[in-house]
Amino acid sequence: MIMIFPELLFSTHYIPHGHCYLWQIPLVWLHVVADSLIALAYFSIPIMLVYFVRKREDIPFKRVFVLFSAFILSCGTTHIMGIITLWYPFYWISGVIKGITALISVLTALELFPLIPKALALPSPHSLEILNREISQLNSDLEQRVQERTNALETINQELIKHNQQMCKLTEVNEFLQLCKSLGEAKKTLAELLKPLFPKMSGSVYLINESRNVLEEFSSWGTLSNNCIFLREDCWALRKGSSYIGNTEFPALYCDHFSQNAKSAPSICVPMNAQGKIFGSLHLNRMDLKQITQSSVALAQTVAQQVSLSLANLRLQENLRDHSLRDPLTGLFNRRYLEESATREIHRAIRNNNSMGIIVIDIDYFKKFNDTYGHAAGDFVLVEVSQYLRNNTRNFDVACRYGGEEFVLLLPDVSLENTCLRAESIRKEIQSLNLKYEQQLLEITISLGVASFPEHGCNLESLINRADQALYKAKKQGRNCVLSA
Ligand code: GH3
Ligand code: MG
Ligand code: MG
Repeated sequence: MIMIFPELLFSTHYIPHGHCYLWQIPLVWLHVVADSLIALAYFSIPIMLVYFVRKREDIPFKRVFVLFSAFILSCGTTHIMGIITLWYPFYWISGVIKGITALISVLTALELFPLIPKALALPSPHSLEILNREISQLNSDLEQRVQERTNALETINQELIKHNQQMCKLTEVNEFLQLCKSLGEAKKTLAELLKPLFPKMSGSVYLINESRNVLEEFSSWGTLSNNCIFLREDCWALRKGSSYIGNTEFPALYCDHFSQNAKSAPSICVPMNAQGKIFGSLHLNRMDLKQITQSSVALAQTVAQQVSLSLANLRLQENLRDHSLRDPLTGLFNRRYLEESATREIHRAIRNNNSMGIIVIDIDYFKKFNDTYGHAAGDFVLVEVSQYLRNNTRNFDVACRYGGEEFVLLLPDVSLENTCLRAESIRKEIQSLNLKYEQQLLEITISLGVASFPEHGCNLESLINRADQALYKAKKQGRNCVLSA
């Protein structure tokens, strides 16, 4: 059977096909050339198709491409067989190849048939172009939105960096204020510290006075555009108890404490509170309208809050210090301060080989004075005498209320003789003070005892004892006089 099959396929019992063309050379060659060209074309098509399908992995309907390639290939082969059968009558093999071609073509047609609706459903190049255009529009919209988001994030980032820098500067301000020992020291540094926090603006810090109705300038930078002193009611922020923005469009609503030329630019006033009370105010002006943002107002509020706490703390410390060193009625130093400074001054006098004078002052008949004019008038006299002593002594002299109506003066670098002269002039000037209390003219005299270092002692106790003895003698001699130990 196996032997029969090739014999059947390659049987030579038939006449070659060339006889049909009567072996006319041109006709035979026409068929040969035409069939060759067709076969060549048919063979090249599947090669290209297979190459295309392999390159384009995403191409749909791959199976039909493969079937179509096989179909074309078999068509090409039938044409080759057309050439061969011109000379060799292998009609069986030619028929088998045709049969295979027929089978493949039917399969291809069957495969192709259900694909037609699917292929029709594929978007046309025109609709693809429209789709592409829509996609690129969507893309550019998306890009624009991403750009906007990026810009917004960039702005937020910039603001965060700025905020961070401001907080660092504010921490620096706080650290400096914590290091200050007095309000005076803070006053010197505050403007320099606050200036970098509010670039291109003028600013000032005001503190409320004891009577709590007047604000006095504490520190300022830039062009001064505020009055040095203003009434609490002149500031809308202080009236409201919260920040106030002065707008150039409404000049009538501008705070009165700003000078006329300051009203040409926007401003912010922020109350400064400490321990639940108004402690002062922060003013920023000569601002650009753009500079008034939520964050700049928030910064001004934070600064006002922190600075007021630090300054209130300093004031509290000063008050405490004053209370521990000063007499509350007269404001003169107390006995404790006298003891501290006497020890220091005596050491200095020893080092420099200098002398130091001490004067004990006692108001004459003060009990009687109180009985005659009342205790309040007595207090008034004590304050006035103290004021005189404070104003008429050198910065490095120590004037102290020693107790009741007694005062002590410590005069560094003054000899015994000069201390006596000084005491005598104080006596005379106090006698002629012309004090007036509730329409009454008050006349007082004082007695003074003088001692000197090193002549009368080498410590405060012995010096005061000797001056006291002299004072006792002065009292005995009839008062209103100066006696030396
Ligand atoms: P002398 O001339 O001998 O010093 O007589 P004196 O009356 O001044 O002395 P004395 O020591 O007898 O009286 C002191 C008076 O000073 C008694 C007291 O009422 C008064 N005094 C003490 N401290 C104060 C004060 O803070 N205010 C007032 N108003 N009087 C005071
Ligand atoms: Mg006395
Ligand atoms: Mg007295």
